[in-house]
Amino acid sequence: MARYTEAVCRLCRREGLKLFLKGGRCYTKKCSFERRPTPPGQHGVRRRKVGDYGLQLREKQKVRRVYGVLEKQFRNYFIEATRQSGVTGEALLRTLELRLDNIVFRLGFAPSRAAARQIVAHGHFAVNGVASNVPSYRLKVGDRVEVRVSHRERELFKVVKETLRSHQAPDWLTLDPANFSGSVQALPRRDQMPLDFNEQLVVEYYSR
Ligand code: SF4
Repeated sequence: MARYTEAVCRLCRREGLKLFLKGGRCYTKKCSFERRPTPPGQHGVRRRKVGDYGLQLREKQKVRRVYGVLEKQFRNYFIEATRQSGVTGEALLRTLELRLDNIVFRLGFAPSRAAARQIVAHGHFAVNGVASNVPSYRLKVGDRVEVRVSHRERELFKVVKETLRSHQAPDWLTLDPANFSGSVQALPRRDQMPLDFNEQLVVEYYSR
Protein backbone atom coordinates (compact mmCIF):
# COMPACT_ATOMS: atom_id res chain seq x y z
CA MET A 1 0.00 0.00 0.00
CA ALA A 2 1.84 3.09 -1.24
CA ARG A 3 1.48 6.28 0.75
CA TYR A 4 3.13 9.65 1.26
CA THR A 5 5.81 9.34 3.95
CA GLU A 6 7.52 12.77 3.97
CA ALA A 7 6.82 15.60 6.44
CA VAL A 8 3.18 16.58 6.00
CA CYS A 9 3.36 20.12 7.41
CA ARG A 10 5.37 21.22 4.38
CA LEU A 11 2.32 20.32 2.28
CA CYS A 12 0.29 22.99 4.09
CA ARG A 13 3.09 25.49 3.57
CA ARG A 14 3.27 24.52 -0.11
CA GLU A 15 -0.49 25.04 -0.59
CA GLY A 16 -0.50 28.24 1.45
CA LEU A 17 -3.23 27.15 3.86
CA LYS A 18 -3.89 24.74 6.67
CA LEU A 19 -4.90 21.32 5.37
CA PHE A 20 -5.40 19.85 8.89
CA LEU A 21 -3.40 16.72 8.18
CA LYS A 22 -2.20 16.13 11.74
CA GLY A 23 -5.34 16.07 13.84
CA GLY A 24 -5.10 17.75 17.25
CA ARG A 25 -1.76 19.43 16.62
CA CYS A 26 -3.30 21.49 13.80
CA TYR A 27 -5.42 23.36 16.34
CA THR A 28 -2.52 24.29 18.61
CA LYS A 29 0.29 26.82 18.51
CA LYS A 30 2.63 24.01 17.46
CA CYS A 31 1.14 24.11 13.95
CA SER A 32 4.06 24.70 11.58
CA PHE A 33 1.94 26.79 9.23
CA GLU A 34 1.05 29.18 12.05
CA ARG A 35 4.73 29.64 12.81
CA ARG A 36 6.05 29.71 9.24
CA PRO A 37 3.40 30.24 6.56
CA THR A 38 5.87 30.63 3.68
CA PRO A 39 6.33 27.91 1.01
CA PRO A 40 9.04 25.36 1.88
CA GLY A 41 12.51 25.47 0.35
CA GLN A 42 15.33 27.96 -0.04
CA HIS A 43 13.35 30.22 -2.36
CA GLY A 44 10.04 29.79 -0.60
CA VAL A 45 9.58 33.46 0.25
CA ARG A 46 10.08 34.58 -3.37
CA ARG A 47 6.88 35.96 -4.90
CA ARG A 48 5.86 34.15 -8.06
CA LYS A 49 3.22 34.94 -10.61
CA VAL A 50 0.74 32.08 -10.87
CA GLY A 51 -1.03 31.43 -14.18
CA ASP A 52 -4.15 29.39 -14.94
CA TYR A 53 -2.22 26.14 -15.09
CA GLY A 54 -0.55 26.89 -11.76
CA LEU A 55 -3.91 27.54 -10.09
CA GLN A 56 -5.37 24.32 -11.48
CA LEU A 57 -2.33 22.33 -10.41
CA ARG A 58 -2.35 23.73 -6.88
CA GLU A 59 -6.06 23.00 -6.45
CA LYS A 60 -5.61 19.44 -7.67
CA GLN A 61 -2.70 18.93 -5.27
CA LYS A 62 -4.69 20.43 -2.41
CA VAL A 63 -7.63 18.03 -2.84
CA ARG A 64 -5.33 15.06 -3.34
CA ARG A 65 -3.30 15.88 -0.25
CA VAL A 66 -6.30 16.49 2.00
CA TYR A 67 -7.56 12.98 1.22
CA GLY A 68 -4.06 11.45 1.28
CA VAL A 69 -4.32 9.89 -2.17
CA LEU A 70 -1.37 9.38 -4.53
CA GLU A 71 -1.44 10.75 -8.08
CA LYS A 72 -2.23 7.56 -9.98
CA GLN A 73 -5.17 6.65 -7.79
CA PHE A 74 -6.42 10.23 -7.80
CA ARG A 75 -6.39 10.32 -11.60
CA ASN A 76 -8.31 7.05 -11.66
CA TYR A 77 -10.92 8.59 -9.35
CA PHE A 78 -11.19 11.50 -11.76
CA ILE A 79 -11.66 9.21 -14.79
CA GLU A 80 -14.35 7.36 -12.88
CA ALA A 81 -16.04 10.66 -11.96
CA THR A 82 -16.23 11.69 -15.62
CA ARG A 83 -18.28 8.56 -16.31
CA GLN A 84 -20.85 9.39 -13.65
CA SER A 85 -23.90 11.52 -14.29
CA GLY A 86 -24.01 15.02 -12.85
CA VAL A 87 -21.22 17.49 -12.12
CA THR A 88 -17.81 15.82 -12.48
CA GLY A 89 -16.10 17.80 -9.71
CA GLU A 90 -18.83 16.91 -7.23
CA ALA A 91 -18.73 13.25 -8.29
CA LEU A 92 -14.98 13.26 -7.66
CA LEU A 93 -15.37 14.64 -4.14
CA ARG A 94 -18.21 12.21 -3.42
CA THR A 95 -16.01 9.28 -4.43
CA LEU A 96 -13.27 10.51 -2.10
CA GLU A 97 -15.73 11.02 0.75
CA LEU A 98 -16.95 7.44 0.47
CA ARG A 99 -13.52 5.95 1.11
CA LEU A 100 -13.44 3.85 4.27
CA ASP A 101 -10.59 5.87 5.84
CA ASN A 102 -12.47 9.14 5.26
CA ILE A 103 -15.68 7.77 6.79
CA VAL A 104 -13.79 6.48 9.84
CA PHE A 105 -12.42 10.03 10.19
CA ARG A 106 -15.81 11.69 9.60
CA LEU A 107 -17.43 9.44 12.21
CA GLY A 108 -14.87 10.63 14.77
CA PHE A 109 -12.91 7.42 15.30
CA ALA A 110 -9.65 9.19 14.39
CA PRO A 111 -8.42 12.81 14.63
CA SER A 112 -7.18 12.96 11.02
CA ARG A 113 -7.52 11.02 7.77
CA ALA A 114 -3.93 9.81 8.12
CA ALA A 115 -4.69 8.39 11.57
CA ALA A 116 -7.91 6.84 10.21
CA ARG A 117 -5.98 5.25 7.39
CA GLN A 118 -3.58 3.71 9.90
CA ILE A 119 -6.21 2.23 12.21
CA VAL A 120 -8.12 0.84 9.22
CA ALA A 121 -4.92 -0.73 7.85
CA HIS A 122 -4.26 -2.26 11.27
CA GLY A 123 -7.51 -4.22 10.93
CA HIS A 124 -9.60 -2.62 13.68
CA PHE A 125 -12.72 -2.14 11.53
CA ALA A 126 -15.42 -4.22 9.89
CA VAL A 127 -17.83 -3.25 7.13
CA ASN A 128 -21.22 -4.98 7.26
CA GLY A 129 -19.75 -7.45 9.75
CA VAL A 130 -16.74 -8.39 7.62
CA ALA A 131 -13.24 -7.27 8.68
CA SER A 132 -11.68 -4.81 6.25
CA ASN A 133 -8.18 -3.36 6.34
CA VAL A 134 -8.35 -1.51 3.02
CA PRO A 135 -8.42 2.30 3.51
CA SER A 136 -9.62 2.91 -0.06
CA TYR A 137 -12.59 0.54 0.29
CA ARG A 138 -15.64 2.34 -1.15
CA LEU A 139 -18.78 2.38 0.96
CA LYS A 140 -22.33 2.48 -0.38
CA VAL A 141 -25.58 3.79 1.01
CA GLY A 142 -26.72 1.44 3.77
CA ASP A 143 -23.24 0.13 4.61
CA ARG A 144 -22.33 -0.11 8.29
CA VAL A 145 -18.85 0.48 9.70
CA GLU A 146 -17.91 -0.64 13.18
CA VAL A 147 -14.92 -1.24 15.39
CA ARG A 148 -14.50 -5.00 15.51
CA VAL A 149 -15.96 -6.37 18.74
CA SER A 150 -12.72 -8.01 19.88
CA HIS A 151 -10.85 -4.69 19.47
CA ARG A 152 -13.18 -2.41 21.42
CA GLU A 153 -11.48 -2.87 24.80
CA ARG A 154 -8.11 -1.77 23.46
CA GLU A 155 -6.57 1.36 24.95
CA LEU A 156 -6.94 3.25 21.68
CA PHE A 157 -10.70 2.85 21.67
CA LYS A 158 -11.12 3.61 25.37
CA VAL A 159 -9.95 7.13 24.54
CA VAL A 160 -12.09 7.29 21.39
CA LYS A 161 -15.18 6.23 23.38
CA GLU A 162 -15.02 9.48 25.35
CA THR A 163 -14.64 11.75 22.34
CA LEU A 164 -17.30 9.94 20.29
CA ARG A 165 -20.06 11.03 22.66
CA SER A 166 -19.67 14.67 21.68
CA HIS A 167 -18.73 14.10 18.05
CA GLN A 168 -21.00 15.60 15.41
CA ALA A 169 -21.04 13.38 12.32
CA PRO A 170 -22.16 14.90 9.00
CA ASP A 171 -25.85 14.58 8.07
CA TRP A 172 -25.28 11.86 5.50
CA LEU A 173 -23.81 9.55 8.16
CA THR A 174 -25.29 8.24 11.38
CA LEU A 175 -23.12 7.58 14.39
CA ASP A 176 -23.92 5.10 17.15
CA PRO A 177 -21.26 5.83 19.82
CA ALA A 178 -22.54 3.14 22.22
CA ASN A 179 -21.91 0.45 19.62
CA PHE A 180 -18.75 1.95 18.09
CA SER A 181 -20.46 2.04 14.73
CA GLY A 182 -21.86 4.27 12.03
CA SER A 183 -23.60 3.91 8.71
CA VAL A 184 -24.00 5.69 5.40
CA GLN A 185 -27.52 7.14 5.19
CA ALA A 186 -27.24 8.86 1.83
CA LEU A 187 -24.71 9.99 -0.72
CA PRO A 188 -23.14 13.29 0.38
CA ARG A 189 -24.30 16.41 -1.46
CA ARG A 190 -21.80 19.14 -2.22
CA ASP A 191 -23.18 21.38 0.54
CA GLN A 192 -22.68 18.51 3.01
CA MET A 193 -18.98 18.30 2.20
CA PRO A 194 -17.62 21.32 4.07
CA LEU A 195 -14.44 21.61 2.07
CA ASP A 196 -12.93 24.79 0.80
CA PHE A 197 -12.16 23.42 -2.66
CA ASN A 198 -12.73 24.74 -6.14
CA GLU A 199 -13.16 21.32 -7.72
CA GLN A 200 -13.87 22.87 -11.12
CA LEU A 201 -10.17 23.79 -11.29
CA VAL A 202 -9.33 20.11 -10.77
CA VAL A 203 -11.62 19.18 -13.65
CA GLU A 204 -9.92 21.82 -15.81
CA TYR A 205 -6.49 20.51 -14.83
CA TYR A 206 -7.27 17.00 -16.08
CA SER A 207 -9.18 18.25 -19.13
CA ARG A 208 -6.24 20.15 -20.64
FE1 SF4 B 1 -0.86 21.63 8.46
FE2 SF4 B 1 -1.67 20.51 10.72
FE3 SF4 B 1 0.96 20.70 10.17
FE4 SF4 B 1 -0.48 22.87 10.78
S1 SF4 B 1 -0.01 21.12 12.13
S2 SF4 B 1 1.00 22.70 9.14
S3 SF4 B 1 -2.46 22.41 9.79
S4 SF4 B 1 -0.59 19.48 9.07
